[in-house]
Amino acid sequence: MLKDRRALVTGSTSGIGLAIARALAAEGAEVILNGLGDADAIALLCKELGAAYNGANLMDAGAIAAMMAEIGPIDILVNNAGMQHVAPIEDFPPEKWDAIIALNLSAAFHTTRLAVPGMKAKGWGRIINTASAHSLVASPFKSAYVAAKHGLAGFTKTIALELATHGITANCISPGYVWTPLVENQIPDTMAARGMTREQVMNDVLLAKQPTKSFVLPEDVAAMAVFLCSDAARNITGANYSIDGGWTAE
Ligand code: NAD
Repeated sequence: MLKDRRALVTGSTSGIGLAIARALAAEGAEVILNGLGDADAIALLCKELGAAYNGANLMDAGAIAAMMAEIGPIDILVNNAGMQHVAPIEDFPPEKWDAIIALNLSAAFHTTRLAVPGMKAKGWGRIINTASAHSLVASPFKSAYVAAKHGLAGFTKTIALELATHGITANCISPGYVWTPLVENQIPDTMAARGMTREQVMNDVLLAKQPTKSFVLPEDVAAMAVFLCSDAARNITGANYSIDGGWTAE
């Protein structure tokens, strides 16, 4: 279905991004991976997916510009790289605020502004932003993440309108809790911020949000990304698709 399409998936060395990269490659897309990680493991992933790799640090606008120039025109842009930090507002480290805004929000602006001219030239493009249930609702102790994801949702709607007559769609996918390193790594800080045990954080904070009482799988998110790249989704733009086990229905 996606033969002859070139796709950049940011933050695709792990978790949701990797599942999206795998799913796009399985549909025949030429995939460019991005993200941090062990060089040998990344080389293996490139081999598995027949993919290229660019390791640009997406907190650096100059590095993003260099990456976009190096990889050339793309048809599909998945802005997925992200990070989390959990702390009460009065203890929230300003450098963590800056890092989260840079990676979870500003990076999508920089990749998008540089990808759009090539998409416009072809009259076809798909921009998919991994937002979050936190693009729609808030949770305490996640001020930077919630601000960045709400910003990403607004950015997506704006570009959807700007690009609507160019055959380019822009949408968010908003997962609830997906079992990936990003969730695993926030458990200790959440334990500290809320004075809870690991089991309490899993059941009373994470799964408490999801009426289905189960974690979303990275593959569930990837399947939605593949659908949004299809021709059947040509008239879906400016949307924000929740895959959150009912979290934001409440
Ligand atoms: P993850 O930690 O498994 O993956 C994050 C990816 O981003 C990795 O490939 C990592 O190398 C990359 N990355 C981190 N810093 C980077 C940088 N400076 N430059 C380039 N790449 C960088 O996390 P995940 O759970 O797969 O998260 C992916 C996206 O999904 C994020 O935007 C996250 O906010 C969002 N999300 C995750 C969940 C969840 O429950 N896991 C829920 C909703 C939304």
